[in-house]
Amino acid sequence: MSSMPSLSNRSEEAVVQDVWGRSLKALRVSVTDRCNLRCQYCMPEEEYVWLPRETLLTFEEIVFLTDLFTRQGVDKVRITGGEPLLRKNVPALVAMLRQNPRILDIAITTNGVLLAEQVQDLFDAGLHRVTVSLDTLKPERFKALTRRDTLAKVFEGIESVGKAGFTGLKLDTVAMKGYNDDELVPLIEYGRQVNAEVRFIEYMDVGGANEWSPEKVLSRKDILTSLSQHYGVIEPVVEESTAPAQRFRLPDGTTFGIISSTTVPFCSTCDRSRLTADGMWYLCLYAKSGVDLRKHLRSGRSQEEIQSIIQSVWQARKDRGAEERKELERQSGRGRYIDIDRLRQDPHLEMHARGG
Ligand code: SAM
Ligand code: SF4
Ligand code: SF4
Repeated sequence: MSSMPSLSNRSEEAVVQDVWGRSLKALRVSVTDRCNLRCQYCMPEEEYVWLPRETLLTFEEIVFLTDLFTRQGVDKVRITGGEPLLRKNVPALVAMLRQNPRILDIAITTNGVLLAEQVQDLFDAGLHRVTVSLDTLKPERFKALTRRDTLAKVFEGIESVGKAGFTGLKLDTVAMKGYNDDELVPLIEYGRQVNAEVRFIEYMDVGGANEWSPEKVLSRKDILTSLSQHYGVIEPVVEESTAPAQRFRLPDGTTFGIISSTTVPFCSTCDRSRLTADGMWYLCLYAKSGVDLRKHLRSGRSQEEIQSIIQSVWQARKDRGAEERKELERQSGRGRYIDIDRLRQDPHLEMHARGG
């Protein structure tokens, strides 16, 4: 890629803040919009308008842009997708990102299907942490939810993580009424067996989640009520954190998390933004437009120019998408977020394009 500007050694360590004083600290990097599952809450259709291959950022471009973000304060990077492990040679990307000393934490979120075969290379490349999405322990349910019969591969993936040398495994579960609300305890018990902390995510009405309705959301309150009926008193874990999950402790010390994006949004501390596989930068999961960093990069803008775009865009950031969606409940009601026609015109609006 001849037009990419070279990186100067001049380091600018300032942490940039947005209009509400939120720092730019965490970057979610999507490496592909494609996926080998079709989770109903994320990709309800079988076919999509995919991002054209020639628009996908090369690893060099991802590393270059990530470097600019780290000069504005980013120190945590999460590799995601679509299914990130469908992209060839993700361990090489991890190794390249590890060259940047400003990055303190590199994690991946994966559906686990291809994890067992890549986990050792990911560990050896220097990946810090793994999160696997797991919504059910029941093969038939998994098949109905994801339209694929690969739960056994996911278990294999999960069980390979500790063996490869990783600690701090997380299992992310989208909790939905009438779907997996009877599996909260079994999921925590499974998490214990594999040394993983389970995090329950409230079902969100983002992107292509067209089947979303408030009745399907299993709220933080519902989750805590259900778990305390089984386990007894549940205490919140007191900690300073901008992480999306609020953590709780069971009487025996087991911890778990709840990401209450729908019923108790946490936009006021949100330090995350998202880079799509084709270089669009989104300041919020609900943002309907983003900044085309690929265009700037491939049109030969200098490092300083792109860095100053990132800085000024973040400084003007006012996004608080989940809070605004919640406010709608009190006003006109919370209808469909994005029409299907609009989703078909702009694949970036889909959750699988912006990485969850
Ligand atoms: N394919 C990978 C996976 O599933 O782990 C990474 C990308 S996926 C978009 C990232 C996360 O977004 C997953 O944990 C998934 O469960 C979550 N997600 C997708 N759609 C969601 C929705 N409508 N509400 C809440 N979480 C959702
Ligand atoms: Fe499921 Fe993740 Fe694929 Fe979406 S991107 S369909 S959440 S596996
Ligand atoms: Fe951050 Fe937007 Fe999610 Fe709020 S809705 S926590 S601002 S990404």
